[in-house]
Amino acid sequence: MNKLIFFLFLMLVISSCADNYPSFDVNNAFEHLQKQCELGVRYPGSDGIELCRDYIINNLTKYNAEIELQKFTVVLNGEEIEGVNILASFYPQMSRRILLGAHYDTRPWADKEEDATLHKTPILGANDAASGVAVLLELAEIISAQQPQQFGIDMVFFDLEDMGAYGTNETWCLGSSYFADNYTKPKPEKAIVIDMIGDADLSINMEYFSYHNSPNLVREVWEIADQLGYNEFKSRIVNRIYDDHYPLIAIGINAIVVIDFEYPSWHTLEDTPDKCSPHSLGVVGQTMVNLIYQEK
Ligand SMILES: [Zn+2]
Repeated sequence: MNKLIFFLFLMLVISSCADNYPSFDVNNAFEHLQKQCELGVRYPGSDGIELCRDYIINNLTKYNAEIELQKFTVVLNGEEIEGVNILASFYPQMSRRILLGAHYDTRPWADKEEDATLHKTPILGANDAASGVAVLLELAEIISAQQPQQFGIDMVFFDLEDMGAYGTNETWCLGSSYFADNYTKPKPEKAIVIDMIGDADLSINMEYFSYHNSPNLVREVWEIADQLGYNEFKSRIVNRIYDDHYPLIAIGINAIVVIDFEYPSWHTLEDTPDKCSPHSLGVVGQTMVNLIYQEK
């Protein structure tokens, strides 16, 4: 190697060390998605949701999180339903916090199927639930292996997001509403809810309530994605989506949702792993890694 080439090589090594972010393992993440689906449908009251809770808790235990189970009861359509939010904390001694959230319950009804006889059949929820949980679990492994310089991380796996009636906001997001109503800790600096981000044809618009409440956080996340070359993040505000970020916003948290709401299999029996891709999980996962491990 001559001196010039060696010098260029050295510069390359130095510059690659300067942005030495951990890398998000897309295959690990996709395995978390598949494993949740292998447990079966995971709606409140099902055997699958119990197994899914165990799956999340077992993984969080392996990744050394401090875990708290937040149990609650809601009344929906005159029926009492038990819910459990799973709270995980990494590096609780760090004062600057980022909160990450995703719901893990799946919808008990495939009520967006054209065939009305299928409307009472529960969905598998590969994208609508498993994708967000999969990304959080892979992040948990990364965070447990390497302490971020600036931020301690809290995660919430929300229950009872997806039993709502269309057009009636207060019937959705019951786990995050309970979490927000009972929130007593200092507020995190940033909170990001991820939902439905596994679609193989990923397209993530800015969400109206997120942008209205936390324009700087939306811009920051979209800029990180842009720097990573992820053109799946689109700079247009399209939908108003009442998701698990909304109850957080309502108690004054700097919260946004990252969601791809253009998913043809939404609330149908077609929401299966083959509609999702490891790459899509990585687009959101690596963006979160770079947000968490930034040096400012
Ligand atoms: Zn849903």
